[in-house]
Amino acid sequence: MVEKVIILGSGPAGLSAAIYTSREGFDPLVISGYKGGGQLILTTLVENIPGFPEGIMGPAYMEMMLKQARKFGTRFIDQDATKVDLKSRPFKVFIEDEVHEADSIIIATGANPMMLGLESEQKFLGRGVSTCGTCDGPFFKDKDVIVVGGGDTAMEDSIFLTRFAKSVTVVHRRDALRASKIMQQRATSNPKIKFLLSSTVEDIKGDKKVSSVIIKDLQTGKTQEMPIDGVFIAVGYEPNSSLFKGQLQIDEQGYLITKDDIMTEIEGVYVAGDIADKVYRQAATAAGSGVKAALQVREYLSEMAEKS
Ligand code: NAP
Repeated sequence: MVEKVIILGSGPAGLSAAIYTSREGFDPLVISGYKGGGQLILTTLVENIPGFPEGIMGPAYMEMMLKQARKFGTRFIDQDATKVDLKSRPFKVFIEDEVHEADSIIIATGANPMMLGLESEQKFLGRGVSTCGTCDGPFFKDKDVIVVGGGDTAMEDSIFLTRFAKSVTVVHRRDALRASKIMQQRATSNPKIKFLLSSTVEDIKGDKKVSSVIIKDLQTGKTQEMPIDGVFIAVGYEPNSSLFKGQLQIDEQGYLITKDDIMTEIEGVYVAGDIADKVYRQAATAAGSGVKAALQVREYLSEMAEKS
C-alpha cells in the first residue's frame, strides 16, 4: 500500500500536520519516534501558546494534539525511522527492514538537546547529570545543583529547579545571558538562583554519582572545584537531520535547508518545525509550519491526481 502522506515526528509541527492532513481525508501515517511528543513533553508550564491564558503543561498540550489527530484518523507507529529513500517514487521510509511507501512526506523530526562534550558528562548521565530539569528536578530535593547555559531553557530549568533544590547556580560561558528579557528577570529576581558568568564547566567529578564540578573563570583563567549534586545541561539543541544526509540539503549546523519555510528541493517532500528553524523555535511557529506543510501536501496530491 502506498500512503498519501507519511509524517516523520510527533511534536507540535508533526501533529499539526497530522490534524490538517487527516481532516483532509489523507489518512496520514505518523512515524512518531520512540520518544514521541517532541520537546514540549520535557517542559512544565507553557505560557506562550495562544489560546491558553493560564498556560498549559507541555505534556498535557501534546496529549490534546495527539487526541485531536487520532480523532480524524491519523495512524501512529511509535518507532524511529532508520532510513529514507527520497530519490525514487513513491518515497520510502524504513523502520529497520520494514518499508513504508508514500506519495508525499512531511519531515518534522525536530531537535535533540546538545551536550558539553565532556567524557564525564556521559559517565554521569542519569547519575547526577541531566538534560531535562522538568524530568529530573524532583530527584534533587534539598540538593545543590548547577544549570549550564544562558538561554531560555537554562532559565526555565533553573526556576523550576528552585522548587526542589537547596541552591541553583547558573553557569554561563559569556558575561551576558541569551535568554528573553522576561525569563532573565524571573531568574535573576529569584533569591535561590546564583549566577557564575564568563565561566565554563571543565569537568564533572564523583564516584557512583556526581559530587563536584571543576569551574573555569574565563576572565581570570582560574579553576575551582565546586561541590555539587546535580548538573543540568541546557546548552541548546541539535537538529535530527542525519536521516536525510545525501538526500536533502543540510546546512553546517545540521538544519535542513528550505525554501519559503517548508519546501525542499524535492517536490512532495516538505519540512516543518525545529528541524529547519534556528530562529523562532517555538511551539506555535512549529505548529504553523506543520499547517503550511499539510496545505502544501494537499496542493501537491491534488496536482498529482489531476495528472493521473
Ligand atoms: P539557546 O537559546 O540556543 O541557548 C543555548 C545556551 O547554551 C546559550 O546561552 C549558549 O551560549 C550556551 N551554550 C551553547 N553551547 C555551549 C557549550 N558547549 N558550552 C557552554 N554553553 C553553551 O537554546 P535554548 O535555551 O535551549 O532555547 C532554544 C529555543 O527555545 C530558543 O529559541 C528559546 O527562546 C526557546 N525556548 C523558549 C522557552 C520559553 O519561552 N519558555 C523555554 C525554553 C526554550 P551563548 O549564549 O554564548 O551562545
